[in-house]
Amino acid sequence: PIDVNALCDEYMRLAYHGLRAKDNSFNCELITEFDPKVDKIIGVGQDIGRVLLNLFNNAFYSVSEKKKQQSGDYNPQVSVVTRALGDMVEIQIRDNGLGIKQEMLDKIYQPFFTTKPTGEGTGLGLSLSYDIITKGHGGSLEVSTKENEFAEFIITLPASVGLP
Ligand code: ADP
Ligand code: MG
Repeated sequence: PIDVNALCDEYMRLAYHGLRAKDNSFNCELITEFDPKVDKIIGVGQDIGRVLLNLFNNAFYSVSEKKKQQSGDYNPQVSVVTRALGDMVEIQIRDNGLGIKQEMLDKIYQPFFTTKPTGEGTGLGLSLSYDIITKGHGGSLEVSTKENEFAEFIITLPASVGLP
């Protein structure tokens, strides 16, 4: 059994502190909205954790890059929202960073596709995350984005209501 809300909170902070360990001048607003009705789900905690860490790392990376490019006032934000939707659980991870170009959208889940400089990304994160969520847990992973405005990844997983 995986406590979805607790895991999201933990991995968001882990990713944020990972980035701040490299650059302690980086600040970001963290927004959390956890639905108390979200139950524990059955899954491989390490794998779901890996997905969350990758999505949060991508989000913090994107807002930190935008911060470097932007001279004016820009308030980096990363948010996580969970929702209980009948027999499904939804996790939305959103950032107001660089967004993803429309023509890249069909490539981001390909293994080794990365727009990051050598050493900063392997391009394996989303490919692995997609497999863990879909093949590994019978869920889905979707993206919604607007270039230079936001990127939002939505994980949907089967809930296991009434777990002991
Ligand atoms: P990596 O992080 O190693 O580049 P991923 O598979 O995690 O590999 O992501 C692939 C690519 O998708 C990234 O290089 C980036 O271009 C794009 N991407 C993923 N998440 C985001 C995001 N939150 N904002 C902007 N671009 C993103
Ligand atoms: Mg990544």
